[in-house]
Amino acid sequence: MLVDPHGRTVRDLRLSITDRCNFRCTYCMPQEGMTWLPREELLTYEEMERIVRVLVERYGFESVRLTGGEPTVRAHLPVLVERLARLGVDLSMTTNGASLGLIAGELRAAGLQRVNISLDSLRPDRFAAITRRDSLHRVLDGIDSAIAAGFDPVKVNCVLVRGVNDDEILDFAEYGRRSGTEVRFIEWMPLDGEGAWAADRVVPAADVVEVLASRYDLQAVGGGALDGSAPAERYRYVDNGAHVGVIASVTRPFCATCDRVRLTAEGQLRNCLFSIRETDLRAVLRGGGSDDDLAAAVEAEVGRKWAGHAIGQVHFIRPARSMSQIGG
Ligand code: SAM
Ligand code: SF4
Repeated sequence: MLVDPHGRTVRDLRLSITDRCNFRCTYCMPQEGMTWLPREELLTYEEMERIVRVLVERYGFESVRLTGGEPTVRAHLPVLVERLARLGVDLSMTTNGASLGLIAGELRAAGLQRVNISLDSLRPDRFAAITRRDSLHRVLDGIDSAIAAGFDPVKVNCVLVRGVNDDEILDFAEYGRRSGTEVRFIEWMPLDGEGAWAADRVVPAADVVEVLASRYDLQAVGGGALDGSAPAERYRYVDNGAHVGVIASVTRPFCATCDRVRLTAEGQLRNCLFSIRETDLRAVLRGGGSDDDLAAAVEAEVGRKWAGHAIGQVHFIRPARSMSQIGG
């Protein structure tokens, strides 16, 4: 077991497999000025597998979520999925969904267990303005393909930004109920890369629940740690049994129960989404380090895990990386 200084057992890895993305979401990364890492700087699939193996064998890590950038832009993704699935972890992926129409079946066959698909507007024009890509139809098709491939549940992540898409809460609720997906509304965090985040543009989860409750009878249900949704506050629609959730990352941080570390595409281990320092696991790997060396580097980083983020407080420091370089 890997226990941090605050008594939390760390057993969940967010694995960013590329910093590249085929979208440019306004709340996540700047339109211009993103320079992608050269290929040789990215961890290879072999390197990722080795790190995950050490985390599983030595510390009992239970879940790995693939993310990016956009994970589906990395070539031969099913090969990685197959390798990691063999290690026996709960394996999931967060994706913008635009490529799932092509590869959902293959990923499922390779051993991917669940997918979360990001979707922030159901209106084509607005979707294009937010993502800077005219691809709503591809994402909706990707969601259908994920369901058809047998992923269950399929979750839809919707980041709400005041004045941008907060008038679509009930539309998303309807979409979730109709499509059989679980929609989760996420509070916008100060990791947009453009510095446009402002506290008054965050749509508090409590407001979202109020809007949902104005139309539907809701019953609060548990989060379900093993399905990777621990931070979500979930509700059941009383009339049809479907679920909807909110993730109050800013207004009700869930740091006290955080069991996560993050690895960037170039192998930097981060003990928090908002870390301002990192541990270079790639240097250990490529410097000929042993599994013991790798484990020692992981333990040292987890040993520095702080109690929680400080968004909204005077001493909060914005990380240099944007969300697309961390992975969410
Ligand atoms: N490209 C993939 C995607 O969009 O799902 C994976 C990477 S993306 C950075 C992971 C998640 O972070 C997505 O659900 C996205 O909506 C969310 N996200 C991005 N920027 C965010 C921000 N500033 N605050 C909160 N969530 C954000
Ligand atoms: Fe790309 Fe995902 Fe960020 Fe959108 S949220 S820019 S799809 S990494």
